[in-house]
Amino acid sequence: MTPAATAPAAPARRAGGGAPPERARIVIAGGGFAGLGLAIRLKQAGIDDFVVLERAAAIGGTWQANTYPGCQCDVPSHLYSFSFAPNPGWTRTYSRQPEIWDYLRGLADRHGLHPHIRLGHELTGASWDDDEQRWNVQTSRGDWSAQILVDATGPLSHPKVPAIRGLRRFEGKVFHSAEWDHDHDLSGERVAVIGTGASAIQFVPRIAGRVGELHVFQRTAPWVLPHTDRPTTRLERRIYKALPAVQKAVRAGVYAGREFFLLGFIKDRRFMAGAERVAAAHLRKQVPDRELRAKLKPHFRLGCKRILLSNDWYPALTRPNVDVVTEDISHIHGRTIVLADGSEREVDTIILGTGFHVTDPPTARLVRGRDGRTIAEASATGVQAYRGATLAGLPNLFKLIGPNTGLGHSSMIYMIEAQLNYVLDALRVMDERAVATFEIRPEALAAYNARVQSQMAGTVWMSGCASWYLDANGNNTTIWPDFTFRYRRQTRRFDPGAYVLRRSADVVRPALAA
Ligand SMILES: Cc1cc2nc3c(=O)[nH]c(=O)nc-3n(C[C@H](O)[C@H](O)[C@H](O)COP(=O)(O)OP(=O)(O)OC[C@H]3O[C@@H](n4cnc5c(N)ncnc54)[C@H](O)[C@@H]3O)c2cc1C
Repeated sequence: MTPAATAPAAPARRAGGGAPPERARIVIAGGGFAGLGLAIRLKQAGIDDFVVLERAAAIGGTWQANTYPGCQCDVPSHLYSFSFAPNPGWTRTYSRQPEIWDYLRGLADRHGLHPHIRLGHELTGASWDDDEQRWNVQTSRGDWSAQILVDATGPLSHPKVPAIRGLRRFEGKVFHSAEWDHDHDLSGERVAVIGTGASAIQFVPRIAGRVGELHVFQRTAPWVLPHTDRPTTRLERRIYKALPAVQKAVRAGVYAGREFFLLGFIKDRRFMAGAERVAAAHLRKQVPDRELRAKLKPHFRLGCKRILLSNDWYPALTRPNVDVVTEDISHIHGRTIVLADGSEREVDTIILGTGFHVTDPPTARLVRGRDGRTIAEASATGVQAYRGATLAGLPNLFKLIGPNTGLGHSSMIYMIEAQLNYVLDALRVMDERAVATFEIRPEALAAYNARVQSQMAGTVWMSGCASWYLDANGNNTTIWPDFTFRYRRQTRRFDPGAYVLRRSADVVRPALAA
């Protein structure tokens, strides 16, 4: 790890201190897979006039922030990595957080990204200046002026704290799984875990044997499939190193298998019925106690919420010091969690495994478009983005992993790479046609979104469960409801006809735009 990757970049000017903003052609907010991936692609294309603003003290995004015990990817390593930067040395078939974080830091080193990265720089506001045809970008450590703003702040980077009365006044220790407090010793403590999603099922088995009591508060029992993770062998790693084509073939096989599984999500439920039988057998085998098994039985179609993989979640819940609580929480007072039925659990620490602000990220309230409204204000009925990347009224802005680009079955890195192709091609078009600004035409966006939502209807994600894929209006603004290769195809080229393009002052004529 280089020093530049771990310490805030210095020196920075104070916001509002009167100094003129720094200028860059492209400002990227967020230093996770998406922001760093774009930085690499820009450098490969010979574009150097960009910065990456990262609020944290280190790059890596998800894999820097989530250091909870057991944090691991649930997509095989060969696919959960950039196709242009394969890693023959993965030590497990499903990588754990430290190894993915190392992978990203290694890429930043190898591609010379550090001079472009500004750590400890949180985007605090951005507004489009139509006269200057530039973005004014505010950060916690000074302002920037950019021709193009890329929001790569991540779909799962803003921890969600549940609205439980009294939680903020809890007299013990509280932390979110994405902000794990490693200085806090859980040994022998009475611990409550709220939530049974993808993070909780990874860290609960790691802490269950260490704590005195563990109360796991479950609202919905998830579907859990057996995990096939294993260490890779030295021979495998040697083969991948010597023969990259073999690793490529393995990646292609993993990819194809995942796309095939998608049929169960979008077309034929019979595929899911098979997986449901496997998951039900997994539960029967690992949880002999009938009463506990009944609590852990899911009551929605597999795939409607994220499918979880684990071999040690159920065994952890059968331990004598672990209690699965399905009663709703009424409120908290002092150190006591009071349930809706009046019963109580007194605990020393509460760990929130309650996920993230996915459909309502804070950045939507920070970025203002041409009419001065924030993204949140302009999209009261649900946020929409053309190709998941460009938004109405927001010229020269790309959102990476924007609306309807999330997946329930495969690797987000594949989707990120597709978006990077789109951004790079847009830059090519801008350069070739002397375009100063692009802005998605509302009718193109509406038609695109209507197609996405009509494909969404009838998929497993809309089969009636409450999930973080749905926004406050019940719309699924998170998931890409089709094969990922179709998304890749749609984003291979920037499509100027869908945009209003302007030179410094003029609207580019339709003939040019077509
Ligand atoms: C625990 C966990 C496990 C996951 N497992 C998988 C998996 O198995 N498979 C899969 O496909 N996906 C998984 N994901 C989803 C994962 O987030 C994506 O795969 C991918 O890492 C997203 O990359 P990103 O760069 O878009 O976002 P992130 O990695 O979240 O990076 C966003 C960056 O933006 C920064 N940022 C946020 N706000 C600001 C601001 N205002 N100013 C400046 N910087 C800001 C953040 O600090 C962060 O560094 C998982 C997510 C989590 C949380």
